[in-house]
Amino acid sequence: MNSSNDVIVLGAGIGGLTLALSLHQAGIPCRVYEAVPELKPLGVGINLLPHAARELCELGLQPALDKVGVRTKEAVFFTSHGQLVFREASGTDAGYDWPQYSIHRGDLHAVLLEAVRKRLGADRVVCGHRNVGVDQDEQGVLAHFAAPDGSTLESVRGAVAIGSDGIHSVLRKQLYPNEGAPRYSGVNMWRGTAVHKPFLSGASMVRAGWLDLGKMVIYPIRDNVDGQGNQLINWVAEIHAPQPALQDWSRPGRLEDFLPAFKDWHFDWLDVPALIRSSDTILEYPMVDQDPLPRWTHGRVTLLGDAAHPMVPRGSNGAGQAIIDARYLAGAMKELGVGTAALDAYDAVRVKATTEVVLTNRSNPPDTILREVFERSGGKRFDRLEDIVTMAELQAISDNYKRVAGYDPAALKARPSFL
Ligand SMILES: Cc1cc2nc3c(=O)[nH]c(=O)nc-3n(C[C@H](O)[C@H](O)[C@H](O)COP(=O)(O)OP(=O)(O)OC[C@H]3O[C@@H](n4cnc5c(N)ncnc54)[C@H](O)[C@@H]3O)c2cc1C
Repeated sequence: MNSSNDVIVLGAGIGGLTLALSLHQAGIPCRVYEAVPELKPLGVGINLLPHAARELCELGLQPALDKVGVRTKEAVFFTSHGQLVFREASGTDAGYDWPQYSIHRGDLHAVLLEAVRKRLGADRVVCGHRNVGVDQDEQGVLAHFAAPDGSTLESVRGAVAIGSDGIHSVLRKQLYPNEGAPRYSGVNMWRGTAVHKPFLSGASMVRAGWLDLGKMVIYPIRDNVDGQGNQLINWVAEIHAPQPALQDWSRPGRLEDFLPAFKDWHFDWLDVPALIRSSDTILEYPMVDQDPLPRWTHGRVTLLGDAAHPMVPRGSNGAGQAIIDARYLAGAMKELGVGTAALDAYDAVRVKATTEVVLTNRSNPPDTILREVFERSGGKRFDRLEDIVTMAELQAISDNYKRVAGYDPAALKARPSFL
């Protein structure tokens, strides 16, 4: 069934599919094994910052992304009273060589999946194969699988195995059996999409309010969805809550659990309660992450994306860091061959880099801008922003995050391609 030289990729999410495309670009054969019987375009909005967009552009996917996503023009921060706090250009509008995309996760996933099927062949993504463990010896790995009905499937030999199986990674559990469940950050999220006319620049990513009383992230993810110029707007409501919601990406949420926090958010640029009420579906999910691991690579197996470094979604870097892992790993295999040397080189660089992102997402992500203003103003209206905080302080928060996450404009431009 399978050549023993293949790279075995476990999980066909954003990271796994990017890895497959990148390995193909490097001339390295691989096969992707996915648990669900059929891949569907699931989720809601995701932001791809220029460092991640660069990688997809280098895979030749820019035209496909331009067709389905929105090129973000600016990041704008408001208080819960609708007072402007900070505004900064994004993507190519900020002088980057690569865009920032606001995109439906399902659209991004579909772009990647279509490219994998077209470039590598449809048989390279094998669905209905839930990985249940990996054995290894000096020659290679043997990955074991279960079918959706729980029955055992034939095991598969490969050169190395990469666990890109998301936040509930089976491979991570095998490598770290004593690790606890994902760590709740104390914030629950409700997410949804609604059709609405463009607001602000028509491509603005808005963050508003603060977690104590209620914070919102709002941005368009599809243009002209109805032939009349309306967009699909993604929103996320985030509120401190003692109890986490269940960790299920498709769990429905209830309006009454969070809408009261935003009932007065009628701004001249957007009526937030009306937007929320007009949404088709509302999903609920807790903000969780895991303490960074000391090591992902163990001989011929390693981890990638959420399996390696789940992070709280406060910096638009979950999908982005998975994409960068994939590109770096494929580059290492191209240079060092498919084996332990490449997996060790990947571990040496990416564990350290993503540890800093995970920890900064907990403590000082970009929305720290809102925390500073909320705490210093006591959450009240202010007359003059400059009495509370200086623009230089806010810019420093934004710039620090860019440096940590790897999209400082000058550093990104200077960095050579991974492949
Ligand atoms: C259904 C779904 C909806 C999501 N919706 C959003 C969203 O709306 N917004 C957001 O910011 N993030 C969302 N995410 C998470 C987001 O995709 C990731 O945080 C990020 O893109 C990192 O990607 P990843 O490839 O590491 O993980 P994921 O994209 O989560 O992909 C992991 C893949 O592995 C598969 N898998 C799991 N266990 C096994 C196993 N044992 N064997 C084989 N395959 C396995 C999963 O089915 C999935 O396809 C969603 C994830 C999923 C799976």
